[in-house]
Amino acid sequence: MAERYDALVVGAGFAGAVVAGELARRGGKKVLLLERRDHVGGNAYDRKDRFGVLIHQYGPHIFHTNDQRVFDYLSQYTAWNGYQHRVAANLPDEGGSPAQRMQYPVPFNLTSLEAAFGPEEGKRLGDKLIAAYGAEKKVTILELRQNSDPEIAALADYVYDHVFVRYTMKQWGQKPEDIDPNTTARVPIFLSRDDRYFQDKYQGLPTDGYTPIFEKILAHPGITVETSCDALKRLKLENGKVLLDGEVFDGPVIYTGQADELFSFRFGPLPYRTLDFEFETWVDRAMAQPLPQSCVAMSEGGDFYQSHGTVNYTVDRPYTRITEFKRMTLQELPGVTTIVKEFSKPYSAAPGEIPYYAIINPENNALYAQYRAEADRYPALHLLGRLAEYKYYNMDAIVSRALTLADKLLGE
Ligand code: FAD
Ligand code: UDP
Repeated sequence: MAERYDALVVGAGFAGAVVAGELARRGGKKVLLLERRDHVGGNAYDRKDRFGVLIHQYGPHIFHTNDQRVFDYLSQYTAWNGYQHRVAANLPDEGGSPAQRMQYPVPFNLTSLEAAFGPEEGKRLGDKLIAAYGAEKKVTILELRQNSDPEIAALADYVYDHVFVRYTMKQWGQKPEDIDPNTTARVPIFLSRDDRYFQDKYQGLPTDGYTPIFEKILAHPGITVETSCDALKRLKLENGKVLLDGEVFDGPVIYTGQADELFSFRFGPLPYRTLDFEFETWVDRAMAQPLPQSCVAMSEGGDFYQSHGTVNYTVDRPYTRITEFKRMTLQELPGVTTIVKEFSKPYSAAPGEIPYYAIINPENNALYAQYRAEADRYPALHLLGRLAEYKYYNMDAIVSRALTLADKLLGE
């Protein structure tokens, strides 16, 4: 006879793994977790590439949070490397020759102002912004563009043109004013010298990577994980009941995949953006003769490709950003480094494409609400996670939501 489970979880990203772990550990439940990919970790999955460089297969992931519960929870499974994320905007230098480029911190801050306008003028403009908004304040680009002072308005236009409009066009195919304002608000103008990308109390990368966190959470006798398993081939939703392998499943079902797919796209597909990742490995010329296939030679004695963990190409280039993993993982590996370039495009559901970003707007939210209402007809079904909730959640928000759902399911 088939094994009986108390709970079914679909998806082994942070949402699914955390709920499964908590139901098993705190609740003593028997949990079946089905994951479509051939590994756990969802989009936070990392692994060593063939050169030994620890890479994030689905794009750079930097953990940051102010949520004590989330930090304490994850710290049971990992130590942190203390990395503080810093990002540089890289753009053509309008004052120099066409080949020259300049870099300054993003979020655009007092240091960026001085790099863009020169120390004196930059300082004067910075003082003016501080007088208008206050020191150490964060102002979104859309707010700054509302300012009627001609000098601040001109400055807002500069930042809009040099940091936001072309990056946002690449990432979303739309202008900043046409996308959800919360999206550009993630990277506000910061009236500070603090050049970190995030100001959260806790930030860093897990010392051994993200994947071991998932392996540890899921290594519990109460949890059965099946990878390379598309749950939708085994699930059926019928008359308010969830069926697994043809039998009514008697327990909570936590679904962390796409809401539209769960209901066979009956109201139409939810729009998403996807990414193409181009990985490149650079090897010190002196260390590798001949160069391994698919490697690019770096100058002799070179260990790194770029100055920052991430460099954003805010004006030109077809990709949005380049991330160099070693700068973030702090892995010590002389003479070799792997980078990734991100190219954004509309999600088309082609085989192998992954829906990375929900496109939040009133029309898409209304479409999502139809799927949500459908899900509400199944009392055992819980939609959880960045895909299932059609939201732009960071990892910490997902972990928090997963812990809260586990509390609820365990009656705590
Ligand atoms: P996912 O990680 O997407 O997991 C869902 C899982 O469900 C997947 O493994 C999927 O294969 C599986 N699944 C779906 N359908 C089925 C099915 N039918 N059957 C079986 N399995 C199924 N957050 C940060 O905090 N910091 C960052 O720096 C950061 N960087 C990011 C960079 C990129 C490029 C992206 C796309 C996201 C980034 N995030 C970052 C967000 C982070 O990835 C998410 O918050 C987190 O991964 C969400 O976890 P989740 O479990 O909801 O979803
Ligand atoms: N953004 C931008 N220029 C930048 C950085 C960000 O225009 O140099 C905008 C862009 O619209 C982007 C959004 O701010 O999608 C959020 O940026 P974030 O770095 O948080 O995006 P993520 O890491 O989630 O892709």
